[in-house]
Amino acid sequence: MTVHDRLFIDGDWTESTGTATLEVISPHTEEVVGRTPAGTRKDIDRAVAAARRAFDQGPWPHTDPGERAAAVGRIAGLLAQRRDEVAELITEEMGCPVTVSRLGQVGEAQAVWSWFAELGAGFTWEDERAAPMGTVTVRREPVGVVAAVVPWNGPQIVVAGKLAAALVAGCTAVVKPSPLAPLDCYPLAEMIQEAGIPPGVVNIVPGGADAGAHLVAHPGVDMVSFTGSVATGRRIGAVCGEHLKRCTLELGGKSAAIVLDDAELTATMGSLRTAALINSGQTCVAQTRVLASRARYDEVVDALAETARAMRTGDPSDPATELGPLVSESQRERVEGYVELGRKEGARLVTGGERPFPRGWYVTPAVFADVANDMRIAREEIFGPVLSVIPYDDEDDAVRIANDSEFGLAGSVWTADRERGLAVARRVRTGTYGVNTYGVQACAPLGGYKCSGVGRELGPEGLESYLECKSILHEGTACTTT
Ligand code: NAD
Repeated sequence: MTVHDRLFIDGDWTESTGTATLEVISPHTEEVVGRTPAGTRKDIDRAVAAARRAFDQGPWPHTDPGERAAAVGRIAGLLAQRRDEVAELITEEMGCPVTVSRLGQVGEAQAVWSWFAELGAGFTWEDERAAPMGTVTVRREPVGVVAAVVPWNGPQIVVAGKLAAALVAGCTAVVKPSPLAPLDCYPLAEMIQEAGIPPGVVNIVPGGADAGAHLVAHPGVDMVSFTGSVATGRRIGAVCGEHLKRCTLELGGKSAAIVLDDAELTATMGSLRTAALINSGQTCVAQTRVLASRARYDEVVDALAETARAMRTGDPSDPATELGPLVSESQRERVEGYVELGRKEGARLVTGGERPFPRGWYVTPAVFADVANDMRIAREEIFGPVLSVIPYDDEDDAVRIANDSEFGLAGSVWTADRERGLAVARRVRTGTYGVNTYGVQACAPLGGYKCSGVGRELGPEGLESYLECKSILHEGTACTTT
């Protein structure tokens, strides 16, 4: 049992102003495994005030960027040392298999912290441009106080993408972790202290939707960096529009994996199983629509069903486990509801969709065949281990189906011909893509087209999200060309 009775505000461990708590329930045992305070509106007010002071009075925004980058690098080092401990907390609170928690969650988060430390050390914060009326100095300055609102499915990696960039930029922040996964942010707060980040620069207040909404609308917040569902993203976008706050919205997806007819299926399934089903399909970039040519349709369906059946489902703390439970009882109900819906819509359930154990919120990975792209199971984000195999006529038809979605977050193409794959990649309207592989990389922008979001995280583009640009015109050599 992991119990915390404090919040990390203004560099200190302080009691909540309220008495409510967040109970963390293990999706494997269905028992309470942790407890934290549920941040109140007053707690959010205190956290924003601390972040505001740390920004307005400094020194963080004016600290040499190299020093800021070095502090971010120290967090990367501390996270590497505490990788297993943090990974076990993630596994306990949201059921991600521990091997994935170690490598895909904390390991990737550590890579993100490291990458931004390097970027910050060499970034061009000012440049000079010759202009008709003199010289323009273009400066990049921090956007201000950032509200970082995060989901439960990738708690460390999402926080890393936001905080590492915000800190390198010189911003201060209030982080609001999800009520379903608030435990792993506690060691992170300790690392922030240990890395020598000044008080108030980072504040962490776990809480529910009410605390999140209060934070987003708070007049002391300059920018909202949100990762979560489309429904919440729409509400947050509207609030930010009203107040003209900057915002990035990293939302959901319904990504298509196009299996071209020259693909070698054993290798394809070896990688696609991760791209489609990692974290039990509870990832925004999950490739949950699999597009197969009519010529090889049955072969792809059989290979996918066999792959799904072979995935080892069970106790997420067992290093051999590949698929854990779903995060909550309501998430399991939602997934089972979609399995039922798929049947009613006329799709053919080839495997899975069952409860394998009497306890724990497990559902075996489901593969639907004979799916049409206008069925709800092909259009809506399920956020669980449910795959739809959709037939296509030719390459143009495959691209058309991939693009026929309100989402545009990720996708992949599987082929023996890399050039052919790259040509397909250029035609699909999504923010990230893979050719015979898929992965989110710290050095490359992550974000969505269409309803999958607004703005980018990660890569230099992710740093730009936390920066304002200022042009300073001063006397100097006039440029002769316009
Ligand atoms: P969610 O939208 O329910 O909640 C996300 C966060 O927002 C939580 O911290 C929640 O407490 C908070 N929140 C809820 N209502 C709010 C409001 N009105 N104002 C402010 N904050 C509010 O999402 P979730 O169920 O936690 O996460 C799953 C979703 O996240 C999926 O749709 C998934 O695709 C998406 N996701 C996207 C990415 C990406 O990079 N694009 C990454 C991970 C997850």
